Amino acid sequence: MTYMFKIMNGLVWFRNDLRTIDNHSLYNACRENEKVIGIYCLDPRHFETTQYGFKKTEKFRTQFLLETLAELQQNLAEKNISLLVYYGYPEQLIPEIAAKYQIETIYSQNEWTQEEVDVETEVRNLIPAVNWKTYYDQFLFHPDDVPYEDWEKIPEVFTEFRKQLEKKIRVRPTVVISAKPIANLIEEKTNIPTLEDLGFDEFKQPNKTAFPFKGGENQAKKRIKEYFWDTKKLAVYKKTRNGLVGKDYSSKLSAWLANGSISARMIYWEVQQFEKKVVKNEDTYWLIFELIWRDYFKYISLKHGNKIFQLNGILQKEYHWNQNTKAFNQWTNGTTQEHFVNANMIELQRTGWMSNRGRQNVASYWAKEWEQDWRIGAAYFESMLIDYDVHSNYGNWMYNAGVGNDPRDRKFNIKRQAEMYDGDGKFQKMWLIPELF
Ligand code: FAD
Repeated sequence: MTYMFKIMNGLVWFRNDLRTIDNHSLYNACRENEKVIGIYCLDPRHFETTQYGFKKTEKFRTQFLLETLAELQQNLAEKNISLLVYYGYPEQLIPEIAAKYQIETIYSQNEWTQEEVDVETEVRNLIPAVNWKTYYDQFLFHPDDVPYEDWEKIPEVFTEFRKQLEKKIRVRPTVVISAKPIANLIEEKTNIPTLEDLGFDEFKQPNKTAFPFKGGENQAKKRIKEYFWDTKKLAVYKKTRNGLVGKDYSSKLSAWLANGSISARMIYWEVQQFEKKVVKNEDTYWLIFELIWRDYFKYISLKHGNKIFQLNGILQKEYHWNQNTKAFNQWTNGTTQEHFVNANMIELQRTGWMSNRGRQNVASYWAKEWEQDWRIGAAYFESMLIDYDVHSNYGNWMYNAGVGNDPRDRKFNIKRQAEMYDGDGKFQKMWLIPELF
């Protein structure tokens, strides 16, 4: 008797999980299918001009993404997996690829924000016969492990959330993905578009940028090696994290985390190693503490859905908001009355980066001092930031605008902040008097 074995074909739709290590979509696709292909779609909608007159994604994050895709394609090739990269709509490309390669199952990261869901729904509707497997792979604390039977039970107060999870949950181990046989590679090859293909001019980061890094999972690991093991800066992280100048005042891991070229779990387990081999102190813990903030904003977004994009936020608190073009131009070009705000906004405009201290101040100035529509500020950050992450960005903006998780209606005293964090004015001079640097 002869048995006919059907070859199973899986497609990994990469979205914000652009890595080959600790990636559950890839891991499960490889375990469950003889043939596995990857696809990434550079969605034209991400490069359109927004209702506010600037691009949804500016050149900084675009460049970082293209670098990330190049490393992903290379690392997948080393595992004998082809990554097809296209500029086009997922709802057009994925059904075509699924038909061409007789895909039975699509694997991807679980995304729940509206734009991502809309695209996925459209793709799913076009290919109803294909199975889908999605994974919550962007968290430190996996949603299946948290002690809330529904999202409504997620605490509104960060400290409560952190204490509950720290006590009850163990971070899951990372998974290792084995190579497929060479026959898994397909003939079809795609070239990753260039920055120019996507409508941007080539550019060079200024030498003084606080983010002199490149995209890609190897680069993320390199940064961890440097920040943790070579310079041991992790051992003083809490003391330096409010800094403004240079690459080492904080980990700078956010951009790789945002597009998933590294997982929060990988960082967590590396911190555990560091604590065993070098030192365990308040500073090493604090990096985990900040990763829990990152998780927290993801849980808040799961709980509140589209309220995170609404003017009254999750507090549903009404204020009077303005939409003034002159104010917007002054704020974004760094020509307000506040040097500290200006220096931070110029840094963002020139590099796609701003420190956490800077972000809090400029957001407070825009939303609380000037009472300008906080969503415009958030959309501008979305456009410019190299590390834009929907949950962290809108969560932090709501928080700073007084419509988020912090019911205290606080406003930063910008001059005092500048004295505290830039007492010698070095940071401000750096961006306001460029000829000095
Ligand atoms: P570290 O200080 O080294 O922290 C380690 C990691 O913890 C970060 O990489 C990040 O993943 C997480 N983290 C730290 N602070 C926060 C925070 N306040 N909220 C959530 N996660 C945090 N972060 C983004 O990743 N993307 C955004 O789009 C974003 N927008 C922001 C908008 C505003 C108005 C504000 C005030 C903050 C925003 N943040 C955002 C949070 C924070 O500023 C950055 O995560 C941080 O500055 C990144 O630098 P780092 O990687 O060196 O951080």
